[in-house]
Amino acid sequence: MATAFITHPDCLKHDMGAGHPEQPARLTAIEDQLIASGIDAHLQRYEAPLATDEQLARVHPVEYLRAIREAAPQTGRVHLDPDTAMNPHTLDAALRAAGSAVLAVDLIFQNRIQNAFCSVRPPGHHACRARPMGFCIFNNVAVAARHAIHAHGIERVAIIDFDVHHGNGTEEIFEADPAVLMASTFQHPFYPYSGTEMPAANMVNVPLPAGAGSKHFHDAVTQHWLPALDEFEPELVVFSAGFDAHIEDEMAMLQFKDADYRWVTEQVKAVADRHAKGRMVSMLEGGYALSALGRSVVQHLRVLAGLN
Ligand SMILES: [Zn+2]
Repeated sequence: MATAFITHPDCLKHDMGAGHPEQPARLTAIEDQLIASGIDAHLQRYEAPLATDEQLARVHPVEYLRAIREAAPQTGRVHLDPDTAMNPHTLDAALRAAGSAVLAVDLIFQNRIQNAFCSVRPPGHHACRARPMGFCIFNNVAVAARHAIHAHGIERVAIIDFDVHHGNGTEEIFEADPAVLMASTFQHPFYPYSGTEMPAANMVNVPLPAGAGSKHFHDAVTQHWLPALDEFEPELVVFSAGFDAHIEDEMAMLQFKDADYRWVTEQVKAVADRHAKGRMVSMLEGGYALSALGRSVVQHLRVLAGLN
């Protein structure tokens, strides 16, 4: 069965201003590498729908959804936090990003695809229940997990977050929720300075020091993530796929290489094959060095698509 590649032109129109690292060119850098690598021919493309309020309200209070709709400007740009702004296209981009998560889950449970990568922005893992933060507005992976549980009746979802930043929003949404196990690595101490203070039992958080590279990452995955994932037996795996721990990414100070994204995807795919019938949804989070981002996504996608 196929691997879906889900995106939408609206995600290119969300623009937080010249010089902002979370920029439309991130998605075109990914598209360029899909073509350069030849992997594009192996993917099934879908356009992301708009998420509905019902789908979003499984994660965010309706008051928050109303506040975001009211904040959306007709012209110009408004800031939601120092790093996160909306232009007139941002609301639709954010609804498409969350909607891509819903579509990915539906296609998988309808047995129309094996797995999916959602090349969307804004990202989501810093978005808390009732607060936008760190380039994020709606928590896309949380929307995916809750949709799988509520619309498709599964009981256990694993969230894998290898972004260089801790997914504080996802942790806030799911801490102590027995339906979700979250496994993550992140640079620490570093923005958003969370994830290490007595995490809940369903949070497998592995902080990594500045300068850590492949060896640290592989040890974290094999010693901490994989045993917890096998014990949890997820029925669906959702990736918070951020590629900003790459050595070429100047957003942070970890030193992952292209091949590490292939390796971690292989490890997690083996878990998904053992417990979840291979069901995986991957949502783009960070990744700001454009060439490294595109190449790393290709490494990730090669494993999802079952290519060598
Ligand atoms: Zn990040």
